[in-house]
Amino acid sequence: MIREVNLDEISDGKRYSANDLVKADCNDCKGCFECCCDMGSSIILDPYDIAMLSAGLGQSFDQLLQGKIELNLVDGLILPNLVMSKRAQATVMSQMYQNQEDKLKDVPKCNFLNENGRCSIHSFRPGICRLFPLGRVYENHSFQYFLQTQECMKNNRTKIKVKKWIGIPDLKKYEQFVLDWHTMIQEFQKKFGNEPSTDQIRDNNLFLLKTFFQTPYTKEKDFYDQFYERFQNAKQIL
Ligand code: SF4
Ligand code: SF4
Repeated sequence: MIREVNLDEISDGKRYSANDLVKADCNDCKGCFECCCDMGSSIILDPYDIAMLSAGLGQSFDQLLQGKIELNLVDGLILPNLVMSKRAQATVMSQMYQNQEDKLKDVPKCNFLNENGRCSIHSFRPGICRLFPLGRVYENHSFQYFLQTQECMKNNRTKIKVKKWIGIPDLKKYEQFVLDWHTMIQEFQKKFGNEPSTDQIRDNNLFLLKTFFQTPYTKEKDFYDQFYERFQNAKQIL
């Protein structure tokens, strides 16, 4: 999700690149799961996330829609996000709350949070989860990372290289994909986001959904090759 915020108010004022050290390492979260709770529809998923979730869980996009992810309108575009639910909250063991603030007891939780308060899909969790408490700031056809200072409750975080924190193989390719996807989404949002709903906008939304999410990515083939083939097709309708 694009947020118009004053970075000085929510960050340490620095920008980071993949090789920089950043004070983000929260020591394996150690009993905390706060950022997996009450996130509404804000954990928006991109095609890489969906490809990884599908491969990791052996489920199609439509199967993921049965409780794991949902669709919402984001500035005029239909995009998937992780589901937060009361059902997930009910499965979480009460002993988890020993180290948690009471405020987390009654809030919806991510459906991937397991009974021990850990992420059950850690090795293929979505990009936003990997980043947290980092964010991305997009400027001049590029992006850098920033550290959100008011989001992670652990205050004894240690330094770690950004690329190690994110932990995605072939980070250069991934970063280029993130930038290209972000740019395309923005172009679509600029073109369609503020217009009243029309058949054409609905058709374009359905086209994007089908092209980038619903059509399965073949596990055995390179994700980026598959993505960029679809990307070229989608650019033609811009
Ligand atoms: S708030 Fe910080 S320590 Fe807690 S789960 Fe999130 S990243 Fe980990
Ligand atoms: S996918 Fe994992 S890390 Fe992300 S919100 Fe859900 S439980 Fe937390």
